[in-house]
Amino acid sequence: MEKIIENWKSILQIEDWEITTQSVKPGQIDYDDQDYFIGIERNFKNQTAIIYHDVDLYEKAIIHELLHVKHEQLPETTFEEYEEFICMKTDEYLLEFG
Ligand SMILES: [Zn+2]
Repeated sequence: MEKIIENWKSILQIEDWEITTQSVKPGQIDYDDQDYFIGIERNFKNQTAIIYHDVDLYEKAIIHELLHVKHEQLPETTFEEYEEFICMKTDEYLLEFG
């Protein structure tokens, strides 16, 4: 997993970031209506991020979360628009580099 993260950090040109992963127990997190959780907590000042997950991580999910690091949400966009953008970018990168 470490290797996959390092590989995508370099593709996405976010090598300066320190990305770690943290598995959490199911139920430790507030779920909307999903039955699993993968999410990222970012600190843009320190350039560190933690990917939290209660299911096994897989490459597409890692790319998605790392894109949340590369692209900060623009103030004029809604969360849904931002998610849509990140999902679109994830597919683009998977097609090109996956
Ligand atoms: Zn997302």
